[in-house]
Amino acid sequence: MMGGTFDPIHHGHLVAASEVADRFALDEVIFVPTGQPWQKGERHVSSPEDRYLMTVIATASNPRFSVSRVDIDRHKVTYTVDTLRDLRAQHPDADLYFITGADALESILSWQDWEELFGLAKFVGVSRPGYKLHTEHLVSHLEQLPADAVHLIEIPALAISSTDCRRRAAENRPVWYLVPDGVVQYISKRNLYRASGVARPDGA
Ligand code: ATP
Ligand code: MG
Repeated sequence: MMGGTFDPIHHGHLVAASEVADRFALDEVIFVPTGQPWQKGERHVSSPEDRYLMTVIATASNPRFSVSRVDIDRHKVTYTVDTLRDLRAQHPDADLYFITGADALESILSWQDWEELFGLAKFVGVSRPGYKLHTEHLVSHLEQLPADAVHLIEIPALAISSTDCRRRAAENRPVWYLVPDGVVQYISKRNLYRASGVARPDGA
């Protein structure tokens, strides 16, 4: 499982999923776009359907990638523990891994009932440029957990964030090659991230 706001999904997400799938020999990676994101209250977040569709477009060509609607159909603020409970119920016999970047792992562990989380899935924290993977805070938590509850792995560094992609789209700068081609086209077609909501005169 890889949870995220995916506003928009970008190649950093896809490389993280692909690397973890390879490293842990996963059969499948299920991308789970959040419902109303609980930590992003102050900024406008694109509609769940736009974020879901971009995630479908970005993952469609990979037979091992799929997208789940559990978080967006819950119509509540998303907590990782709810995601895990729902996915666990749908896949009772699977070995579940929750993939997260270094930054998100830190906040999941600080804000949520992390002891319950580890009963539902293993966690894989991946490196992300600009964030430390082995923070003191994280390492002090990990010492209290079973050895394989959380794996921390280095992946190829892609300094891409959805925040930067949104800013670029708002300023009519390119997002090509940061997000999959179909997502570039979807952003343009739906006029996402344009402050004015007005399309460019050249239609790009
Ligand atoms: P935003 O800037 O809006 O927060 P984001 O780029 O951080 O967007 P999210 O949807 O918040 O993307 O992240 C989903 C998950 O993907 C999180 O676990 C996050 O840490 C991870 N992630 C995002 N970008 C990268 C990256 N470039 N490398 C590794 N992991 C990443
Ligand atoms: Mg983020």
